[in-house]
Amino acid sequence: MKSTHKAIYPGSFDPITNGHVDIIRRISKIFDEVIVLVSHSSDKSATFSVSERMALIKGALPEMANVKVDSHEGLTVEYAQKAQARILVRGLRAVVDFEYEASMGNINKTIDPHIETVLVFASPEFYFISSRMVKDVAKNRGPVEDLVPANVVSPLRKKFEKKSERSGK
Ligand code: ADP
Repeated sequence: MKSTHKAIYPGSFDPITNGHVDIIRRISKIFDEVIVLVSHSSDKSATFSVSERMALIKGALPEMANVKVDSHEGLTVEYAQKAQARILVRGLRAVVDFEYEASMGNINKTIDPHIETVLVFASPEFYFISSRMVKDVAKNRGPVEDLVPANVVSPLRKKFEKKSERSGK
């Protein structure tokens, strides 16, 4: 029987950006199956709820048959074990990402030595995009059309319109 290569791409995706979509497109051509995993912990404050984040990811990737979206609270390695996936993909932007990813990868390796972290370099045109930066632009009513998938633009604007209405700004 042919073994299938299943990869997990975990992250906060709060919200999904064009940088994430680029990584997903690229890895979907390498692995048989990709699970985009919204990892969340109850103590981490997020702008979008887990279900909103999952819906935005699904809306951004309508045509990718081998890509699934799921969510998980807790250790990503435990999710990978249950899903019988041995590859975790992380995107690498600037050098600053490296240290965090190296320690994360090593910790995951101590939890389960069979699971490998694969680092994928951000494409030059997306390497400066982060969910945090995109939210900062939206908060200040700047243009986000070139930073996030089309389906994310209006939910992102609405999120911050509501917030500024509530705070009276
Ligand atoms: P986390 O909070 O776990 O870092 P993110 O949602 O910010 O989750 O990112 C998920 C993954 O995608 C991380 O590996 C991150 O480095 C990567 N990533 C984020 N933005 C980009 C981008 N513009 N290009 C490539 N990879 C990216």
